[in-house]
Amino acid sequence: MKIHEIPLRFVKSFLIEMEGKRGILVDAGTPGSGNKIVNYINSVGVKQIDYVIFTHSHQDHIGGAHELKVSLNSKFCIDENGKDYLEKGLVREPVVHSAFLKFVFSIGKPFFFKKTEGVPPDIILKEGELEDGIEIIRTSGHTNDSISIYVNDLNSVIVGDTLQGTRNGLKYPSIYENWDDLRKSVEKIKSLSSSMIYVSHGVSSNKFLI
Ligand SMILES: [Zn+2]
Ligand SMILES: [Zn+2]
Repeated sequence: MKIHEIPLRFVKSFLIEMEGKRGILVDAGTPGSGNKIVNYINSVGVKQIDYVIFTHSHQDHIGGAHELKVSLNSKFCIDENGKDYLEKGLVREPVVHSAFLKFVFSIGKPFFFKKTEGVPPDIILKEGELEDGIEIIRTSGHTNDSISIYVNDLNSVIVGDTLQGTRNGLKYPSIYENWDDLRKSVEKIKSLSSSMIYVSHGVSSNKFLI
């Protein structure tokens, strides 16, 4: 088993490579990322993606979903609170808490966010085991539909945007909908004592700066 980081435009997707050339894809990048993701999957010889799991419904994570639906024969999975965004291709606006990001989003909104084609989810995620050794953990706060994926064999967890990576370690994201929930979710992730924590933005790490 192996976790691959797939670098896309200012975000990453993840491929959990399993036995028998099967895999689980985590996140779909921004709109237009579909081909790059499929090419990556092919290049490492994975033949079947059983699930596409979305860590949450921000557009840099679900934007390429409709492009993947065409080429992958997979079950698309998202938290209940993200269902509408995925299904209708709606834009979930990030709730920002830094002056810099507020400025960037205030001028860049029409450029950053465009409604896309929707994809109906096949599975609404529940906390607990999705399949052998793959566990879904609810980690709301960044958004109310944020989940993390714990991979038992590797003692590793993919947390999406619940943490942000820096060169020195992991910190809180500056985009979040609920601070108390975010704090509790980060404690939950810390308590796993994982060997590696994979983040969608920045450098994955097992060092916490918070
Ligand atoms: Zn996000
Ligand atoms: Zn993101």
